[in-house]
Amino acid sequence: MKATRAVGLERLEQFLPHAGIDYTQGRNDVPGVVSGLSPYIRHRLITEEEVVTAVLGRHSAQAAGKFIQEVCWRTYWKGWLEMRPSVWFRYLEELRSLRDRMEREPDFKERVRRAEQGEAGLECLDDWARELRETGSLHNHVRMWFASIWVHTLRLPWQLGADFFMRHLLDGDPASNTLSWRWVCGLQTKGKVYVATAENIERYTNGRYAPHGLLARDAQPVTEEFLIPQPLQLAPPDQHASGERTLLLITDEDLSPESWGIPRCDVAGVVLLDTAEPSDGVESLPMGWNRKAIDGTVKRLESEFRHPIPRLQGGGESIPARLQAILREQGANSLSMMTPPVGATLSLIEPILEELSRASVSVRKLRRSWDDAFWPHATHGFFKLKERIPPVLKELF
Ligand SMILES: Cc1cc2nc3c(=O)[nH]c(=O)nc-3n(C[C@H](O)[C@H](O)[C@H](O)COP(=O)(O)OP(=O)(O)OC[C@H]3O[C@@H](n4cnc5c(N)ncnc54)[C@H](O)[C@@H]3O)c2cc1C
Repeated sequence: MKATRAVGLERLEQFLPHAGIDYTQGRNDVPGVVSGLSPYIRHRLITEEEVVTAVLGRHSAQAAGKFIQEVCWRTYWKGWLEMRPSVWFRYLEELRSLRDRMEREPDFKERVRRAEQGEAGLECLDDWARELRETGSLHNHVRMWFASIWVHTLRLPWQLGADFFMRHLLDGDPASNTLSWRWVCGLQTKGKVYVATAENIERYTNGRYAPHGLLARDAQPVTEEFLIPQPLQLAPPDQHASGERTLLLITDEDLSPESWGIPRCDVAGVVLLDTAEPSDGVESLPMGWNRKAIDGTVKRLESEFRHPIPRLQGGGESIPARLQAILREQGANSLSMMTPPVGATLSLIEPILEELSRASVSVRKLRRSWDDAFWPHATHGFFKLKERIPPVLKELF
């Protein structure tokens, strides 16, 4: 699977005939009828808006309703976390302390190791752990079963399962992953736990697995002392001022600057903040995918903009100074970027932006109209956002 926008668009094209009734009826089967688009959407090699536009060009909103709803689950999770960033930082903190616990408690560490290596002794879970490690992907239903068994049957902390997914999924996403794990535990919808059953697994794997008598049946919701914070107000995005010469700063969070709404004549240049280098020199499957997605984007944009694209590596101290030098060289009056959502890239870029602001560099923090239209509806449960899908789509298209 090539990590380029062109291949993402090809995959979308091939999936389009199936985005209606086939998807509605077949999406829960494993392997089933699904698009496989998530690694492309994750880095916005292709965007939610593009995907939904293409689907609506082929099917009625009613026929493609289920598919559009699933795309909007991603939008919902992104908006939900954007308004509650502390849930992400809390997860990272808990993860650190669980890693310390693993060092202190060898038996605990061994239980986690076995679950990750596919040696837990439960055939389905072991196969899925290996599949995840080998392919960087798992079907949605399998992710739900896996998380449920990890938490409720193996009784391992959800944060370590979420981390295992993040280290191996090509589409690993701070919002979709963390919040889906929390949802399985009953932490997102208080008291509502997702419990995988042998009957359900047997039915949707067409009899491939039937772990009767092996799974926890009466799972209790996981509890936490931390209260879910009230949603923060989203900061309004900046707008591009027509005629302003601007330098586009791209990151792995949005690799399609062509659709940022900035006219080509206003683009003074493009620069990449490269986050794809592994800090310990070991490249995992997702890192490799990420690197290829970035390389492919640079190649595509260099040929489109007919300009070499400088790559700024990691979070080094010299980045703000280098950005200012590039701004001067390219004769740009501002820097424009799609603000990364909550996650590692945002944490990396925030100190850079602070330094640029101290140096009085104009930074335009943009947001895609898709996010801008949907995110404010992610204040409560998914159903509040779901009700807004038809009017928002009408407004957008
Ligand atoms: C425990 C758990 C962890 C998950 N971790 C991630 C993750 O790290 N990254 C991620 O992108 N998705 C995650 N998901 C959601 C979902 O499993 C994947 O998006 C989906 O399996 C991707 O396959 P697809 O592209 O074939 O999806 P399709 O069914 O073809 O759906 C189309 C697109 O809609 C979005 N989507 C579909 N279902 C969901 C969903 N339930 N939640 C959020 N978005 C959805 C994805 O962008 C997907 O590409 C997780 C789900 C669970 C239960």
